[in-house]
Amino acid sequence: MRQKTSTKKNEAISEFKNFPYADFTKKEDCESFTKAIKNVRQQLGKDYPLFINGNDVISREKMDSVNPAKPSEVLGSICQAGTKEVAQAIEAAKAAFEKWRDTPPQKRADCLFKAAEIARRRAFELSAWQVLEVGKQWDQAYADVAECIDFFEYYARDMLKLGQPQKLGNVPGELNLYFYQPKGIAAVISPWNFPLAISGGMCAAAIVTGNCVVFKPSGFSSIVGYNLVEIFKEAGVPNGVFNYIPGRGSVIGDFMVEHPDISLIAFTGSVKTGCRIIEKAAKVQPGQPNVKKVVCEMGGKNAIIIDDDTDIDYAVPQVLYSAFGFQGQKCSACSRLIILDAVYDKFVEELVKQAESIKIGPSEDFANKMGPVVDKSAQKSIFEYIEIGGKEGKVLYKSPVPQSDGFYAPITIIADITPDCRIAQEEIFGPVLAVMRVEDFDEAIDWALSTKFALTGGVFSRKPEHLELARKAFRVGNLYLNRNCVGALVGRQPFGGARMSGVGTKAGGPDYLLHFMDPRTITEKL
Ligand code: NAD
Repeated sequence: MRQKTSTKKNEAISEFKNFPYADFTKKEDCESFTKAIKNVRQQLGKDYPLFINGNDVISREKMDSVNPAKPSEVLGSICQAGTKEVAQAIEAAKAAFEKWRDTPPQKRADCLFKAAEIARRRAFELSAWQVLEVGKQWDQAYADVAECIDFFEYYARDMLKLGQPQKLGNVPGELNLYFYQPKGIAAVISPWNFPLAISGGMCAAAIVTGNCVVFKPSGFSSIVGYNLVEIFKEAGVPNGVFNYIPGRGSVIGDFMVEHPDISLIAFTGSVKTGCRIIEKAAKVQPGQPNVKKVVCEMGGKNAIIIDDDTDIDYAVPQVLYSAFGFQGQKCSACSRLIILDAVYDKFVEELVKQAESIKIGPSEDFANKMGPVVDKSAQKSIFEYIEIGGKEGKVLYKSPVPQSDGFYAPITIIADITPDCRIAQEEIFGPVLAVMRVEDFDEAIDWALSTKFALTGGVFSRKPEHLELARKAFRVGNLYLNRNCVGALVGRQPFGGARMSGVGTKAGGPDYLLHFMDPRTITEKL
């Protein structure tokens, strides 16, 4: 699908539309994906440099990126930035800043439109990288690439609107202009679970608003992170405006955050890292010219409520998809299922029956609906939680996993969980579902709200008064009524949580770019 997106003279900008997903019931899409995986496989084993001021930079230290379904398979070797390289990247960003700041918003938006065009052209290949590097299923990987394209298209359009100064007031002899300027140098720090979309979205927002970026991908998805270098380079983003500095969070994280020349930190990741960043960024460093802004999106412990009149046949697959899609490694994933007593037994029976049919194996094989988790430490932590859950409640189902050295974790459904249990409070980030039985809908809402997080939530009910109560009281960032609770779409379901899930900046929504800029007012006496 092509969208008319250039802002060249006389060309109209079309209305924003989400990039359509691939359709794997169609032979041609399946063939394109198979071909893309083959193509990517031919590129394995390369070295990936840092990218600073438009130049490839080779560092002494390298880290292998491996296939989580087969850890002995090295996909590539990624140069690791140390503090020296981070300082260089920040210097380059600083040198490029004034020119980029003063580049007309239309030109900056054009870079994103071009980036979107490039990502559309490479959609299957970019998805195939995710299958190999983080173990996403085909459809999940393609959805991530589609979301990245959407961020480019959406933020470019938004900047065109926000780039127009507004006249305020209506007083003779006075002209008031209200407009935005970028904050400065942005450190973009991203997670691995939506490796192109979240990274691409945060970088795109910073770039299009006129900031310069130093981008640190997660160590688990640094090759996908490098895909952004290729995209922004081809899109004509000037030297120094986008810099890629993969490296260990423990080595360069604090340095980036505390650096006096960083004005903005765009972070998505765990609550532990996010809170650390907020704390470090709050401390003013010697020579620091700006108060730092932190755009911070963190974890979740999301609940779906099953009312006593729920259509079980409809809801069970929605719950399974929410809980176990991409191995439960989504911030939006359902990890608590709260079921009203009247339907509890029937619902749970059907849930387990259908869970038993989910095939687990390498995501490269389309038949597998669940793949490996991202790495060994994630796998270990999930097994520990399964053990804790087994003591706190009753394990209703624990799936078999492939006998291989891949990082597989079983689908696990644990019943008799109450809000005081650890597996009802702590984010596990794996395929573990805590099932809770409640007397009535009021109790269901209370239990749903009983964690420190407020990211997503879901309700299945046919009672208008219960849906209304949920709208009022089930205070999470993204609430879904009578559907699954994952897969928010740019422009349609702006995404992000409150409380300890984040500062509520809502990626893919009309307010997001405002976090990357400061408003200014100029008043002129005429
Ligand atoms: P993480 O917090 O471990 O890492 C995120 C990033 O922070 C990585 O790039 C990491 O290298 C870096 N980092 C580590 N230590 C750092 C430090 N001291 N200073 C600066 N950066 C540092 O999270 P993860 O495992 O990559 O991602 C999973 C988490 O992200 C889950 O908690 C999930 O819920 C959350 N998440 C939230 C959203 C959202 O929109 N709310 C979206 C996706 C993921």
